[in-house]
Amino acid sequence: MTISINLKRIIDDSYPIHIGSLPEINFEGKVAVLTNPKVAGLHLQTLLSTLKAKEVYVITIPDGEQYKTLDTIESILDRMFDHRLNRKSLLIAFGGGVIGDMGGFAASLYNRGIDFIQIPTTLLSQVDASVGGKTGVNNRFGKNLIGAFHQPRAVYIDPSFLSTLAPREFGAGVAEIVKMAVTFNLSFFEWLENNDLREGDNLQHAIKMAVETKARVVEADEKEQGLRAALNYGHTFGHVIENETHYETYLHGESVAIGMVMANDLACEMGLMSFEEAMRIKTLLGRYDLPLTYPIHDVEKFYQTFFLDKKSADSTITFILPRGIGGVEITDAIDAVAVKKSLSKFQGMSA
Ligand code: NAD
Repeated sequence: MTISINLKRIIDDSYPIHIGSLPEINFEGKVAVLTNPKVAGLHLQTLLSTLKAKEVYVITIPDGEQYKTLDTIESILDRMFDHRLNRKSLLIAFGGGVIGDMGGFAASLYNRGIDFIQIPTTLLSQVDASVGGKTGVNNRFGKNLIGAFHQPRAVYIDPSFLSTLAPREFGAGVAEIVKMAVTFNLSFFEWLENNDLREGDNLQHAIKMAVETKARVVEADEKEQGLRAALNYGHTFGHVIENETHYETYLHGESVAIGMVMANDLACEMGLMSFEEAMRIKTLLGRYDLPLTYPIHDVEKFYQTFFLDKKSADSTITFILPRGIGGVEITDAIDAVAVKKSLSKFQGMSA
């Protein structure tokens, strides 16, 4: 005997992404703001002055990727229970990508899921992490391996929060902007070549372009069954670099910048990109003081570490390679010999 359970449904998880000064946020129920001491010290008053709710609680967790763990999630949930949040309460993730990923994950778990809003305060989280509903934490097996897709109800991107950002953190965000342009939008890339993001309103325009790109990709492939994987351009190589340097030498965006240079070299090997195009990308990244190379000590070891990447099925490595500028190819059909040949060019190079 078979009993069927029919759960076909249409879910509308659409949400607005506001770019500009933080507007007044009104909410009838209880609100928990998740943040860390650094962001709270710099910007919490600005947020609280625009937030009108029945009750507002601030939950502060330590700053740093090393705290992006299930233990921290448990402590966030404990605080949410202490404050007796309910199904109709709202969580606001107020900080960089670490806070955004953990806030979204805690919201997905509390009472089996409550609403949350992203208010990203780093460039990387404004152009990438806050949009698309990927939430989660790291564990000893790797980064972001535990989590949920839980879309925010809204994202508020206020570039004025970036005025306090460290220059290296700014560069790390630019790397993700360049990633969006190279993979999906040639004219945006050309615009980036001709406009300095540290001048005038250029940054706001670049944020808009990057977020628009990400939004369209997420709409097409929310759960990363195909196209969304293109946003991992530079990450396959970058993750190995992060792993080899124990997440201590480079910021995530910095390792992605090096990873893009490496992916470009492989794309040139495969005839997907010209050396001139690869050089244009390198020049653009270099303008924001991003690292552009990494001294590979052991090509075979570097190659084997690709297999730890969760985007790779057991025996294949999925590479995201640019097809010229403004196009992308997701492929697991690259010959190991070609990959190792490309990697060997970085052997012994000084960083
Ligand atoms: P982060 O959250 O660690 O922030 C970097 C540093 O900047 C921190 O010390 C933070 O306290 C500080 N900071 C935040 N806002 C500031 C401000 N306005 N002024 C001064 N300092 C400020 O790092 P990140 O680069 O924002 O995000 C990286 C995380 O995002 C990683 O965990 C990564 O896995 C995740 N991520 C997620 C997605 C996604 O789709 N969910 C995409 C990309 C990255």
